[in-house]
Amino acid sequence: MWSYYTGFLNLYIRPTTAKEAKEKGCTKYCTGKPCKHGHVYFRQASTHECFICSRARCARYEKANKETLRRKRAEYRDTNRTAINERQRAERRKNGCSSQSRYKAKNMHKYAAWAAKRRAAKLERTPPWVDWEKIDEIFSIAETRTLETDVKHEVDHVIPLQGKLVSGLHVHTNLQVITKKANNEKINKFDPMTFEC
Ligand SMILES: [Zn+2]
Repeated sequence: MWSYYTGFLNLYIRPTTAKEAKEKGCTKYCTGKPCKHGHVYFRQASTHECFICSRARCARYEKANKETLRRKRAEYRDTNRTAINERQRAERRKNGCSSQSRYKAKNMHKYAAWAAKRRAAKLERTPPWVDWEKIDEIFSIAETRTLETDVKHEVDHVIPLQGKLVSGLHVHTNLQVITKKANNEKINKFDPMTFEC
């Protein structure tokens, strides 16, 4: 399992040049020097590209070609349905679960953020100027606190989306990380007398 410890350890024991990586049969290497964008991280042995730059480039491509990629992937799924099902069955037999459930287990904060987004959209409490990145960050903090303290933390709307007196918005300034216990006790209560701006 990946951790900061093994991450840094790998940084030391990984090959330091593409040539050494190829000789050892590794796909990545780390020179310990920053790339042209300042990242000190692994590089792809085949392309020499920094992993962080590569991820950003792929994200930009995905964003620019969203519709085309969606159509192509749907076409691929339609024409290769039997093969895909067979591959997924084999994977589940081998690992005991699908890659989707492994992804979900690793990215619980993203699923919590999506669920909150859906709920807020349903209630029409998301303004057009919302900052989704900041919201994702808060959900990530809640997950980190849960892992660090072993106490379940959740993201709570300071002013509830469906309050009795007033209704809040699904925006990062209306979000706070609190324990699940405190959240359950709060439910949809909002007391204007104790609210601090
Ligand atoms: Zn880079």
